[in-house]
Amino acid sequence: ILLIVGMGGALLALLGSFYASGRALSPIKRSWERQRQFVGDASHELRTPLAVIQSNLDIVLTHAHEGVIDNLEWLNNAKAEARRLTRLTEDLLTLARADSTMTPLRSERVDLRAIAENVHDAYAIYAESKDIQFLLEPSPDDAVVTGDADRLHQLFVILLDNAIKYTQEGGRITLKVEVTKGTIVIIVEDTGIGIEKGEQSLVFERFFRSDVARERESGGLGLGLSIAKWIVEAHRGRISVDSELGVGTTFRVVLPRAAGAHQAQAVQQTDR
Ligand code: ADP
Repeated sequence: ILLIVGMGGALLALLGSFYASGRALSPIKRSWERQRQFVGDASHELRTPLAVIQSNLDIVLTHAHEGVIDNLEWLNNAKAEARRLTRLTEDLLTLARADSTMTPLRSERVDLRAIAENVHDAYAIYAESKDIQFLLEPSPDDAVVTGDADRLHQLFVILLDNAIKYTQEGGRITLKVEVTKGTIVIIVEDTGIGIEKGEQSLVFERFFRSDVARERESGGLGLGLSIAKWIVEAHRGRISVDSELGVGTTFRVVLPRAAGAHQAQAVQQTDR
């Protein structure tokens, strides 16, 4: 009997380890599948601008005897696609590095109010040129997180770039940075084209672009928000979207406040 119980135990342990290794393998398999999909989608996206550059340069070469001035249109097309290609490769590199955790994030005190003001200064004129009003709500001076200033700046740029891209003339964009006891909340609100309810959970996926966005031909690549999501999660935060088609979109980022930031404020308050 002891032998049978012992063998039963050993069999159970063996089954347990099979089960455990099966469970441990499936996330690896899933991640491998995701990588395969990513490489496939990326190659597809890289092929289009390359084909456009090649065909435009072919035209220039067959009309070479006409000189540069007569070929400007084709050369400009090739240049615009080369610019798109540069942006695409930069985004792909960022995501590939994020996947392999090769991108070390700096850990410094970052003042989000300063970034918001800087980005507002840089984008207000651009928005105005498209007849879009860009408002920055006053934020408190203790909107401090611990993280990587360059990446957080990139996060603001991605959200504002989209807000401008997907808002029509006469629209309005509002940027807010709010401080709660333990968090900093960044809110980017626009009165643009909006996102269908069913598509809202997909916008953070790599290469996703909604049909309405594609119709606008704004040259987006569908990678910005996946980079934004990576930046937010690398700072232990959350990003969410709330939108109504034809009415507007609000992106909300919640980040943990820098350690010491609210203790310092609490000390100030008890001093008063
Ligand atoms: P891109 O803008 O380059 O297409 P993103 O990853 O930044 O890629 O965004 C993915 C998709 O999410 C966009 O193609 C668009 O459909 C939708 N989207 C993002 N921001 C907005 C916004 N502010 N208003 C409406 N749609 C948006």
